[in-house]
Amino acid sequence: MNDTVQTQYQPRKVVKHAPMSKGMTTKRKKKPNILAVINECCTGCAGSPACVDYCPVAECMYWVPDPDHPPFGRIEVDPLLCIGCKLCTSKGPDGTFLEGCPWDAIDMVSTSEWEAVHGELPY
Ligand code: SF4
Ligand code: SF4
Repeated sequence: MNDTVQTQYQPRKVVKHAPMSKGMTTKRKKKPNILAVINECCTGCAGSPACVDYCPVAECMYWVPDPDHPPFGRIEVDPLLCIGCKLCTSKGPDGTFLEGCPWDAIDMVSTSEWEAVHGELPY
């Protein structure tokens, strides 16, 4: 028996709410080496996410409302759309934040590590 066979990633059915990233609508050309993953530090920026406008891919970053605490929520990243460009996280010199998330709430994770947990991405 081979325990190392990787399962395919099964996307959850999600309703993507606004604020949502806008931009490229074409399928990414290749699987990126790194993916953006939102961590537990995401506050949702009180409904005005600072990160979303920097993402160049349509519907890649989207709002997930917190049903127990409206109008709060958080941002999620679609792993099938992220191109690993880091624009949502980029910092200026000496760690000064010029753009992207100011709260260290986005991790850039190696795609292979991500796939080991969530399953292999089809593209
Ligand atoms: S890494 Fe790039 S494509 Fe991925 S969520 Fe951030 S800005 Fe969007
Ligand atoms: S990832 Fe950062 S910038 Fe985006 S909503 Fe969360 S805390 Fe705000």
